[in-house]
Amino acid sequence: MPPLADPASAGASLFELVAELFPLHRSLTGDGVRETLARLARHIPLVIHEVPSGTRVFDWTVPDEWNVRDAWIADPTGRRVVDIRRSNLHLVHYSVPVRARLPLAELRHHLFSRPDAPDVVPYRTSYYAPSWGFCLAHRDLAALADGEYEVCIDATLAPGSLTYGECVLPGETDEEVLVSTHICHPSLANDNLSGIVVATALAQELTSRGSRRYGYRFVFAPGTIGAITWLARNESRVDHIRHGLVLAGLGDASAFTYKKSRRGDADIDRVVPHVLHHAGAPHALAEFSPYGYDERQYCSPGFDLPVGCLMRTPHGAYPEYHTSADDLGFVRAEALHESLRLVLAVIDTLEANRVHVSQNPKCEPQLGRRGLYAPAGGGDPRADQLALLWMLNLADGRHSLLDIAERAGMPFAAIERAARLLSEHGLLKEAV
Ligand code: ZN
Repeated sequence: MPPLADPASAGASLFELVAELFPLHRSLTGDGVRETLARLARHIPLVIHEVPSGTRVFDWTVPDEWNVRDAWIADPTGRRVVDIRRSNLHLVHYSVPVRARLPLAELRHHLFSRPDAPDVVPYRTSYYAPSWGFCLAHRDLAALADGEYEVCIDATLAPGSLTYGECVLPGETDEEVLVSTHICHPSLANDNLSGIVVATALAQELTSRGSRRYGYRFVFAPGTIGAITWLARNESRVDHIRHGLVLAGLGDASAFTYKKSRRGDADIDRVVPHVLHHAGAPHALAEFSPYGYDERQYCSPGFDLPVGCLMRTPHGAYPEYHTSADDLGFVRAEALHESLRLVLAVIDTLEANRVHVSQNPKCEPQLGRRGLYAPAGGGDPRADQLALLWMLNLADGRHSLLDIAERAGMPFAAIERAARLLSEHGLLKEAV
């Protein structure tokens, strides 16, 4: 993907990666997930992990691996009325293999549609209960004539492995930022692919930077069981995680939603709202709840990690959700790009959020003498000066730049700029 500095092409390339990954037959496990991760590995240093079926991960067990070669239904005239070659949403995920002839009345028990939205194909899974089924538009279901149908599901559900990808970018300290996104959905563009491409572009952008205070750990794993598996295999490492974000549903045109971590007052729970507010981005804030994406696992009480979830329209709250309408027409290049910019602004804030001590705490230092009275920042001189005064006043070794920005009601970047300027003039030192 091209560098972020060129917004038009950065947005277009994010969308192109969504379009490239869209047709792959992803599921909880299997070759579609492997192929997706292999494509991401062309952009970022991704390590791919395979965890054998049957492995115990806390209260769960890594399931058998599922792969599909073909799946269709033929009507009494032999015409294929449902075929996964047209859309991989047509097959209920984790369907067991079947080859049968059966009357429509019996077949109906295995057919799923959305009578309330008759034109869309729903997305359905049956990961943990062995069964089989097909999804189709209600309009097409209603048009099926009586008679004997032929069903083929050429699939294997057998011991294999669960696949996840991890991209680790070391930092100057051993403290880490976790970025996690699910990779288990088939041809759904917003739910799944938007998070995957924003996380990939973020990793790529951070790789291109010289130095990072934090290490960054990107986890691309199937929902629920993937995050649980990662946590089970990395239990000794999670103490290093200082901040974290689950990324999901970032490509639709709606306002952002930030769902706080279970702690509710972690730095990430303050930084994301601060950045959203000062970017002028319409947004909603949601308190933690034990539902949604993989923040549920990272924020389970035994871990209680400072991990929030950034989305646009939340999980389940848009009509296209988990249907064939969550397609390439539903996600926008500009929305993907805006999401990436926002997450980068969050990272920049986390990276720069330090504590300082004033070297001249008794009364204000004389700014005019140092040429700081109306610093040439190119911005609003009054605001720049106010930022200097707030910074000097609260640089007592107890307030972080974020604390100061919040208390001053000013953007973090303005306070950070003031801190840099004052440090250059010997008026501030970073607290150790
Ligand atoms: Zn989903």
